[in-house]
Parts: sequence; structure tokens; C-alpha cells
Amino acid sequence: MEKSLALLFVLLSASPMILAEGFDGITLKTTKVSGNVYMLEGVGGFAGGNIAVSAGEDGILLVDDQFAGMNDKIKAELKEIDAGQLRFVLNTHWHGDHSGGNALFSKNATIIAHENVRKRLQAPQENSVGTSPAQPKDAWPLITFDESLTIHMNGEAIDFIHFPNGHTDGDGVVFFNKSNVIHTGDHFFVDAFPFVDLDSGGNVISYTRNVKSLIDRMPEDVKIIPGHGGLATLEDYKRFHDMLVSTTDYVKSKTEAGLTLEEIQVEGLPERWHSWASGYIKTEQWIGLIYQSLAS
Ligand SMILES: [Zn+2]
Repeated sequence: MEKSLALLFVLLSASPMILAEGFDGITLKTTKVSGNVYMLEGVGGFAGGNIAVSAGEDGILLVDDQFAGMNDKIKAELKEIDAGQLRFVLNTHWHGDHSGGNALFSKNATIIAHENVRKRLQAPQENSVGTSPAQPKDAWPLITFDESLTIHMNGEAIDFIHFPNGHTDGDGVVFFNKSNVIHTGDHFFVDAFPFVDLDSGGNVISYTRNVKSLIDRMPEDVKIIPGHGGLATLEDYKRFHDMLVSTTDYVKSKTEAGLTLEEIQVEGLPERWHSWASGYIKTEQWIGLIYQSLAS
């Protein structure tokens, strides 16, 4: 699927049932990350964001659940990993490529997310990518939190911590403390400019601050499951942070030199950042997100 089309799907995951088709060609790849934790990622198309799985004696916990159309494939993959019962689904934020399976999984499992995820799933949403109607009650998280909560499961403390006004206003990052694995949600797109949802309370400046504070609390040998992209290391994450800081400084200096947004977009970014436009967000969009974040 075209990357730009894929981005549209982020928010056009309207009714969880609508996209049940169109996922035929996509398969899931399972990677055992460390300890009890596995990573599921779509191959051959856009399945949604990466999923983390904790599987063990207490059952199964998922971080994010992709689009509704991936539901059967996720369930089949979970059976391969462990025959245990699915108990919890954590949403890192409200976007449909991370929470689209909620209404189907909630028949058997409890959905947990930051309180703003629940609020946004309950009402129609509109942003630069498109619109999304209010989701059915089955898709709403049953348990919400403000700052953080901890789930004690499968022999470890799993911390779910809110990072404010980053990718959205409801982001939660998941720390599998003993396994030494972190699911960042969309606070990490590997080697690609990130989508920052300004209309959902996101902001590039505070997003960058959140990434720095995540880096500061990560052990050197941590394994990182990003929202989008392959399994990553702390070094990969530092490179991402460097890009955020450098491109923001660049746009800021151009703004201070009196250039308009359009003029900065026409000039583009220095060559070292060109390859980062190969993901969902192109250079022009990324400059726009920085510019608007600086102005707000
Ligand atoms: Zn997102």
C-alpha cells in the first residue's frame, strides 16, 4: 500500500468493522524480544502500529491492537505464542491504527488507556489527516489513568506512564521492567519523521522533551518496540532525538530570519535529513508540524 494512503488509514479507521476487508495480503511477523515479551508487526501492507505481547502464567497482555481488520490474525498469532487467556489491552493513544481492534477484543479483555484516549474515542475527531467518528461503547477503555498505573503480571511490574502533549494528549508508554523492553507508542518512528497530531493536543516541542526524558530513563541495553518501524535500540532512539532537535533548531532559525512557512518548505531541510522523509511524513509536512508547534 502507498505510504500516503496508509497514513489516511490512521484516522479513517472509522467504524471498526469497515476495514475488516483489505487486510488479506498482510501477515504478522512475531519476534521474541526478551523475557516474556514479543513484538507483532505487519508485513506486506499497513496493519497498524506495532503490538507488544506479554505472555506467561497470568495470561496475555497486549499493547495496542492495530486495525479491526487484523483481529483474527492477531488472535491466531497469540495462539502460536501461548494458549493463555487474553486479559488486558493497553492503548498507547486513540488513533485507529493502535486502537481499532478494541471493540472486538473487549468481549474478552479489559481495555486500559489514559483518560484522554477514552474521551477522544467517545467523540468525533478531526485532524490534518482526516476525520474519525465517535467509536462504539465497546471500544472505550474500561480503566483509565491520569499519570501512571502498574500491572503486576507474568512475573514483572508493567508500568504504563503518561507523557503529556507529545504525539497526542493521551500518550502512554509501556515499560516491561524485568524483561527490559519498552513500547513507546508513536513517540518513536524509526528513522522517519513522526506524525505529531497537533489537533489532538500533540506538539513537536513537548514531543521532543518527552523523547529526551524517555532516553534518560532507558538502560543502555533496552529493547525498544516503536510505534512504527522495526525493533530498535537506545542508539536508534538517540538518532531519532537528534533529528528532532536539529530539524526544530533549523526551522526556528529560518523563522527568526524572517522566512514564512511556505518559504522554509520550498527551501526544504539540509541533505542529511532527506532520507527521513521515506516514511509517512514528508519533509514539507514535517516542517509544517515544527513551524506550527513553535508558534503555539
Ligand atoms: Zn498515532
